[in-house]
Amino acid sequence: MTRSEMLFERAVKRIPGGVNSPVRAFGSVGETPRFIASAKGAWLTDADGRRYLDYVGSWGPMILGHNHPAVREAVLEACSQGLSFGAATEREVEMAELICSLVPSVEMVRMVNSGTEAVMSALRAARGYTGREKIVKFAGCYHGHCDAMLVKAGSGVMTAGVPDSAGVPKGCTKDTLTVSYNDLKSVEALFETCGREIAAVIVEPVGANMGVVLPEKGFLEGLRSLCSRYGSVLVFDEVITGFRLGLSGAQGYFGVEADLTTFGKIIGGGMPVGAYGGKREIMETVAPLGPVYQAGTLSGNPVAMAAGLAELRTLRDTPGFYEELHRKSQMLFEGMREILKKAGSPFQINAAGSLGCLFFTDQEVRDYASAKTSDSSAYAQYFSHMLNRGIYLAPSQFEAMFVSAALTEEEIGKTLQAVQCFFT
Ligand SMILES: *Cc1c(COP(=O)(O)O)cnc(C)c1O
Repeated sequence: MTRSEMLFERAVKRIPGGVNSPVRAFGSVGETPRFIASAKGAWLTDADGRRYLDYVGSWGPMILGHNHPAVREAVLEACSQGLSFGAATEREVEMAELICSLVPSVEMVRMVNSGTEAVMSALRAARGYTGREKIVKFAGCYHGHCDAMLVKAGSGVMTAGVPDSAGVPKGCTKDTLTVSYNDLKSVEALFETCGREIAAVIVEPVGANMGVVLPEKGFLEGLRSLCSRYGSVLVFDEVITGFRLGLSGAQGYFGVEADLTTFGKIIGGGMPVGAYGGKREIMETVAPLGPVYQAGTLSGNPVAMAAGLAELRTLRDTPGFYEELHRKSQMLFEGMREILKKAGSPFQINAAGSLGCLFFTDQEVRDYASAKTSDSSAYAQYFSHMLNRGIYLAPSQFEAMFVSAALTEEEIGKTLQAVQCFFT
């Protein structure tokens, strides 16, 4: 028995499913989770001392690679000054200024502790600001696990095959209207029937929780103009895309501005952090300035801020960072496409910047329904094959591959060899 297996045996007795987040379970791929002992650069080391090239990157934050010295040192310095004060600190001001300087649509920002909290709070602000209650979301987009958003959610919800979570009262989701991703016509129809009741449209500007699904030309632009016309708040959930597709996130990448934006993952540099921000007049509704209540004992935690600041500043101050990351990512995803083509395989690869996904389906994947045509059991075989060759992928068909800047061309070559081996 391996040490991971032993740890898992103990874990399942005391932690539901043996994991503290369902996306870490290896159930859908028929494996036992590898317990990770440490990580550096592009590599994970498990409890048995086995090494893996990591394409999960802690689900996004590790865009610089694991244990980056700038982030680690900033954290150690902050730790030496005290872990939490429950009072205002300079780093929070620096973080707010930094986010506002990088994302033009963000004029004010509030720090929270997770992406879930960011979304929950942004929607509350949108409702408080508009005095309306309905929220439009897209099937397959994941916006964290707050009650109102657990309707046709992606990510772990999708893998579990649970359409909606138990324990969510109907009353909490009755104002959540769900539309297919990329289906602008249906959104228009919805606005025609009840546009003046819609507080917000929330969208992942690149769907990254049903595999990777790109917005088609005109989709985000169309949402933008509908929200402007009807006075609804456009919320971009950039918990994954923020600072990943570029310094100004998906909104910079696609040239469409949101009214409110949620962040998470990368802005914490690996620490539990989220944030929501946007137009001044909306953010001014948030307490203590306005009537929308939202609070957090550990929000803006100094150690977490230090990690996030160091990560964001490194992204900002490294010349050509995103060009280089995207070049390497393209090398990987194009390489995979080539392999599929040569093997005569009909499977699909969707990619945007350093996010990508291999779907085991012959259909073009543009929404939740087409993503679900993927053969999850084929993915499970692929996952095991890659894991055995030391490549750590997400243990689910419906998650992205995250490429980090630490990955070398040689390591990409090693990855492509493993892919090649599976398809021939
Ligand atoms: C991960 C994620 C969330 C939830 O963030 P947590 O920190 O896990 O609560 C919300 N939205 C998107 C797009 C995400 O990918």
